[in-house]
Parts: sequence; structure tokens; C-alpha cells
Amino acid sequence: MNQSATCTVDTETHHQRIRAFMAGHPGPSPYLVVDLPTVARCYRSLAGAFGSAPVFYAVKANPDPRVIRLLVRLGASFDVASRAEVDLCLAAGADPAALSYGNTVKKSADIRHAYARGVRLFVFDSVEELRKLAEHAPGSRVFCRLPASGEGSRWPLSRKFGCAPDMAVELLRAAPGLGLDPVGVSFHVGSQQLDPQRWDPSIAQAARVFAELRSAGVHLRMLNVGGGFAAGYLTPVAPIDAYAAAIHASVRRHFAVPPSLAVEPGRYLVAEAGVLRCEVVLVARKHHDDEKRWVYLDIGRYGGLIDTEGEAIHYRLVTEHDDGPSGPVVIAGPTCDSVDILYERTPYRLPLALRPGDHVDILGAGAYTLSSATVGFNGLPPLTAYCVGSEFPDTGTAGE
Ligand SMILES: *Cc1c(COP(=O)(O)O)cnc(C)c1O
Repeated sequence: MNQSATCTVDTETHHQRIRAFMAGHPGPSPYLVVDLPTVARCYRSLAGAFGSAPVFYAVKANPDPRVIRLLVRLGASFDVASRAEVDLCLAAGADPAALSYGNTVKKSADIRHAYARGVRLFVFDSVEELRKLAEHAPGSRVFCRLPASGEGSRWPLSRKFGCAPDMAVELLRAAPGLGLDPVGVSFHVGSQQLDPQRWDPSIAQAARVFAELRSAGVHLRMLNVGGGFAAGYLTPVAPIDAYAAAIHASVRRHFAVPPSLAVEPGRYLVAEAGVLRCEVVLVARKHHDDEKRWVYLDIGRYGGLIDTEGEAIHYRLVTEHDDGPSGPVVIAGPTCDSVDILYERTPYRLPLALRPGDHVDILGAGAYTLSSATVGFNGLPPLTAYCVGSEFPDTGTAGE
């Protein structure tokens, strides 16, 4: 089971930098180490694959200010979902014109907050939200979000988001009358989407919305194809170029006049840059004749590993004993909640030599860990992050 690398051509240096930091860092685990040059490499490979399309980084994937500052320097735009994310990006030096308020569910006060700070791009998927935007963000550019099934993805983002295409047509058509500028449609095919062809049905649906509006005299300009680009965990994934090629082919197939594209990656830009160092708390058997050991780590579902919900994401685990014999395990977190089991159905094996106090490194852990750790469940402290390998003098320094 080899981890596949989709954008980390330089994995050796990446791991050396992180290992060197960990060797000199006796501090308590768990903690996350983010390799900034890997974030930069992933950004450049994705931006390169999509040509001139703006790249809106979905801040929730990893809101560390050093990551945001780096992406500002690289020329990224940002997909934000709250007042705090607006402020975070602006404090990191982002231009408010580079922010898209992509959450379709916003408090009026938060819309006003963003608008007062210069944000002029918002997403909606209901008439109620459209009216809020008309009132609190007059003159703004708006996207309508369409639903997507999430099929083929490890973490679907369906049902909660998007309105029916005929409703999208109706609402985008009404936007100018409400003083808003309808720019296009957006969708999300589900996070860790393993099949590059899964964008095609959504692009076809978007093209029908564009065409209907065109015949009604409303000319949309932009198609936001969302996030979902897969990061390398335990199983190999398609390279980013394959995603871009499939998306460009679908756009050519379904649109007579191809619109400008925008992309909204989260996971792809930050997952592979992060390694989570944790520690074994207990290795135990629950029956004398049980072949499976239970390995309890000092991090689990509440400490930042929300992506193990439903065993959706299969992280690669590295220990100091990987050269020795291994056996099957159930892997669980440290809290007093029984949902805090990371892997029970997925056949993980860990070394027989593994003992309490040994380190376990969780690779590909840069996405959705820092942002999902709880504050204080069973006394767990929030997850600490360190950044290594700054590529600009004023972004991220080790040990901050
Ligand atoms: C979370 C999110 C993204 C990023 O998704 P990934 O699967 O991490 O690439 C993009 N757009 C929106 C609206 C999101 O909510």
C-alpha cells in the first residue's frame, strides 16, 4: 500500500524537512506540520492545469494564516464561508476583490460585514438568500449554485446545496431587477472526487442554464466548477491534468460559447503538505483469541480526523517499526465516545512491535484537520500547527 503523490514530485525533500522539524521538536503530540513548499507546488500544478482560470482556495480546508499568506503571494483567490474567514484572508493581505463568499447560507450581518470590507462576489441557491444579497450587498456579482449528486466522491456535498436548474434560471433572471449582476453558476461534485468524468453531468446541466438565460437576454460569463480534486492517500488518484482535461473537454462538448472557468480547490492544495504526529496510548486485545489488536492513538475523530467519518478517507500511517512484522488492527481515538473509531472495517495493519508512547505519523493530513479539531472535548486541546520550509521570507517560520 503505497501512498500516491499527485503533486509532490519532491516528496523526499518534503519528508526530510518535516522529519528534521519533528526530530528537533520534543513537544507533546498530537501536532500538525505543514510543508509550505508543497502547498506552493500543489497550487502551481493546479493553476497550471487550469490555465487562466482564477483559483479560489476553499479556506476551510486549512485556515492557517501562514498557508493563506503563502497563497496570497502565489496569486490565489479565496472561497470564504464566514465573517471570520473574510477577515482572515484580508489580514493575510488578500484583495477583497479576490474573495468569493461561497457559502449559500449567510447571516445578514455577515453579508454586510463582507460587503463593507469590499467583497462583491456572493453565491446563493434560494430566492430568500438572493433577497438578502440584494438588500445587504447591492450591486454585487452573484453565482447560483446547482446541485450535484456527489457520486464517485469519498465525501459528497449533495442535498444541502444547490437549487433545481429551472429555479436557478428563474432566480438568475430576476437578479438584475434586484440590482445584482448575475455572473454564472457553481456546483461541487463532492470532496475527494475520484472520477474526473463526474464533472460532466454538472457541466451539461450548467450549459442548459446558460442557454436558457441567453435566450431570455441574460448573458452569464463564468462557470465555477468547484472543488473535489483528489489528493493522494492510500490509493492512487488521477493526476490534476486528467481532471483539467476532462473538465475542458466537457465544457467544449456542452457549450457553444465556452464561458470563463473558475475552480475552488481545498483538499488538493493542502492535504499532501501536512503530516500529523501522534502517539500510541494503548495497544490491547478484547478477547484472548482475538487476532485484531485495538490501537488507541492520542488523536481521533474529535482531534481533527473528521475525514475518517464513515472511514471515508484512508490515511497512510507511518511508524518506527514498519520494517518488522505487522498484524490486523482496529484504530481508535482517545476520547470517551464510541464514534471515535477511525478504522474498523478498513483492513489496516500495524507493526506487532507497536507500544504505548511510540509515534505514529499520519501522512496527507494537511486538509480538514486543523479546521475540524474540537476545542476541549474530553479536555483535548485544539490542534497545534507548525509550518516548515517557507518559500517567501515573510511567510511561515518553523516553530511559530
Ligand atoms: C469545501 C468547499 C470546497 C473545497 O472542496 P475540496 O473537496 O476540498 O476541494 C470548494 N467549494 C465549496 C463551496 C466548498 O464548500
